[in-house]
Amino acid sequence: MLMPQDVTRPLRPCLFIDKDGTLVHNVPYNVDPALLRFMPGAGAALARLQRAGLALVIVTNQSGLARGFFTRAQFDALQQALLQRLQQEFGVRIDGVEMCPHGPDDEGRPACPCRKPAPGMLIRAAQQHGLDLARSWIVGDTLDDVEAGHRAGAGGLFFNSGGETVWRRSPLRNADASFSNWTALADYVEKALAGNTGCPPAWIRPPATGDAPCSNTGTARSSASPRAS
Ligand SMILES: [Mg+2]
Ligand SMILES: [Zn+2]
Repeated sequence: MLMPQDVTRPLRPCLFIDKDGTLVHNVPYNVDPALLRFMPGAGAALARLQRAGLALVIVTNQSGLARGFFTRAQFDALQQALLQRLQQEFGVRIDGVEMCPHGPDDEGRPACPCRKPAPGMLIRAAQQHGLDLARSWIVGDTLDDVEAGHRAGAGGLFFNSGGETVWRRSPLRNADASFSNWTALADYVEKALAGNTGCPPAWIRPPATGDAPCSNTGTARSSASPRAS
């Protein structure tokens, strides 16, 4: 049961972080803490972004649970080790972890509201932690991550570590920016956060009508993503 947020508390911007192939190297269906290897620069970048005021929430598809490859207890142990290492090695405190334990349908599409590219995990975290989705981003190594971010009303940042192999395209799957290292990503997000105008992101704005009440000029998102239809 989700509790209503305290309306007097301002909503926080957030970085939603995909785990496999983004925060840590992708070892398919891994639940062995000994095999956790952070992407270069990830811990330091998260520490910076936390200091800049962002909430940090991990959002991860774990269909290995539905497929019976590992148990919830095994995943919980991995998650605990991951959070502990982030805290001990980088001083990073993760605000929340959202996990989808479901598998895809026969066509590979989400069969639940939470498996990315569906936005359920981001929306649930936003309600739980008081997050401002319009001032938030997801970062992930597949276009499904980018799409989940856009479907939630957040920005979608692509982390190019080789995880995407299909490249199915649609307006919702066009990343706002792409990165191959965490330092550049942290630079981008810090700058975008500082320059944010509070306007809705480009992909959910109606086409300009002439009286343009809202301009994202000066933000890193101004290079116009196509509008979702
Ligand atoms: Mg991934
Ligand atoms: Zn799910």
